[in-house]
Amino acid sequence: MVSELQLGNLTIQVLQKDIKNVHLSVYPPNGKVKVSAPNEMPLDTLRVFVISKLTWIRKQQAKLQAQAREASRDYIERESHYFRGERYLLKVIEHNHPPKIELDHQSIMLYIRPETKTEKRAVILNDWYRVQLKQQIPVLIAKYEKLMGVSVKDFGVKKMKTKWGTCNPIAQRIWLNLELAKKPPELLEYVVVHEMVHLLERSHNRRFVLLMNKFMPKWRFYKDELNRLPISHVDWGN
Ligand SMILES: [Zn+2]
Repeated sequence: MVSELQLGNLTIQVLQKDIKNVHLSVYPPNGKVKVSAPNEMPLDTLRVFVISKLTWIRKQQAKLQAQAREASRDYIERESHYFRGERYLLKVIEHNHPPKIELDHQSIMLYIRPETKTEKRAVILNDWYRVQLKQQIPVLIAKYEKLMGVSVKDFGVKKMKTKWGTCNPIAQRIWLNLELAKKPPELLEYVVVHEMVHLLERSHNRRFVLLMNKFMPKWRFYKDELNRLPISHVDWGN
């Protein structure tokens, strides 16, 4: 059964079904709130539950807003873009050759043909980010393969909405979020270590934490840092 709860200016979609626990989620892009609840739970009880989570909901919505601001880029002159945790100003240079990107200490120089559309500019920059990440990642993998005694058979980089990385322990393959190209190198390293620890321990249990402590003592600091920055994700998955 689907119904709605109204709390001030906040509308919450309620889905009651055959489950045991209440699940509350805030969805991109607009911060829509949905609650799944057991069939027999009275709406008043649900209302009290949601009120107890209001601070959390507002926080998630603020994060999504920050992400939306971060994501809506026009790829025009003097716009700021991030690379390895540093802010650069975009310089757009028109030329009649294939597109390319060059970096100096304060600018990302985007060479494009005249009248290159925004979407195409985004693709060019993302391709460049991907190339950069693909150069950085093997070094990190090699470092931790030695330390952990594991082997990564394959890795990839892709856009992911809700995760910084994933690991398939059976295939020994890890995927990393393209957004990591914009983050400080130590945060990329943290995600690589996290995913590689999954080769030793699949779930986020006590053993996983002990392994993280062993291979990257400051991991909690990096995790907080990563989740504090505006990014294209809400929750942390594996
Ligand atoms: Zn994980």
